[in-house]
Amino acid sequence: MLSRFAGETPLGRKRRARKMARELAETHPDAHCELDFTNPLELAVATILSAQTTDVRVNQVTPELFRRYRSAADYAAADREQMEALLRPTGFFRAKTNSLIRLGQALLEHHDGRIPGKLDQLVKLPGIGRKTANVILGNAFGVPGITVDTHFRRLTNRFGWVDEQDEVKIESLVADLIEKRDWTMLSHRVIFHGRRVCHSRTPACGACTLKAMCPSFGTGPTEAAPAARLLKGPRARELAVAAGVDPALVPAVAVLAPEEP
Ligand code: SF4
Repeated sequence: MLSRFAGETPLGRKRRARKMARELAETHPDAHCELDFTNPLELAVATILSAQTTDVRVNQVTPELFRRYRSAADYAAADREQMEALLRPTGFFRAKTNSLIRLGQALLEHHDGRIPGKLDQLVKLPGIGRKTANVILGNAFGVPGITVDTHFRRLTNRFGWVDEQDEVKIESLVADLIEKRDWTMLSHRVIFHGRRVCHSRTPACGACTLKAMCPSFGTGPTEAAPAARLLKGPRARELAVAAGVDPALVPAVAVLAPEEP
C-alpha cells in the first residue's frame, strides 16, 4: 500500500470506502444485474448457469430454457439429455443439468416449488452457494446482498478495503464498511468497474475515476494515453471524461471490445 494510506485508521478507511462507493455510483450509472430473468426461479437458474461462463452466453441460452421449463416441477421432471443439449453452450453442461434437476426436486420437496427468500435456506439448495444466494436475494427479493465474485475480490483488495482472499470474510469486512442499503448496487458497480476499468492484468489507472482514492494507483499505466486505451465497453468514452481524460484517446475498438468476463 502506498505510504499515503499506510497509517489509515479504521474510520478513515470507512470514510474513504464510502466516498469511493459514491464515486462508483457516478461512474457506472448503468450498473445492473446482467443476467436476464423475470422471477426468482429464473434468476436462480441463470446464476447457476453463469459459473465458468459469461452472462452474455447465459442470456443466449435462457430464453429457450425458460420457455420449456417454467416451474420447479418442470426442472424436477426434465429429460436429462434434452436439457444437456440446451445447456451445452454454457460449458459444464452435465453438472449444470444435474444441479437444475436437483434444484427443482429440492424446491418441490422443501419449499412448495418456490425459491425461498432467506440466505440460510438458499445455501442449502443444490447448485446454490453463498455468492449465488446473495445475487438472488439482492436482485429478485430486494434484500441487500454483497456478491463476492472474482472482480469484487480483486478490486476490494486493490482499493485497500480488505486484505483478504476468502470470499465469506471479504463479504463481512465490506459489510462493515458500506451501508446495508447500498450492498446490492455496490456489488454491480464494483463488478462493472472490474470489467471496464480495473482489469485483472493491466488496470487503466490513469483513466480511473478512483485514482485519487486508490492505494493501488500505479498497478497499471498512470499516463492518460496508455490508460485510455485500456478502457472497455459501450461507455468507454464517458468513463474517460469522468476521469478527466480526453475521450479522443479512447480507440473506437474499445467501445466494441468485449469486456472482461
Ligand atoms: S486506480 Fe488503478 S488499481 Fe485503483 S481502482 Fe483505478 S484502475 Fe484499479
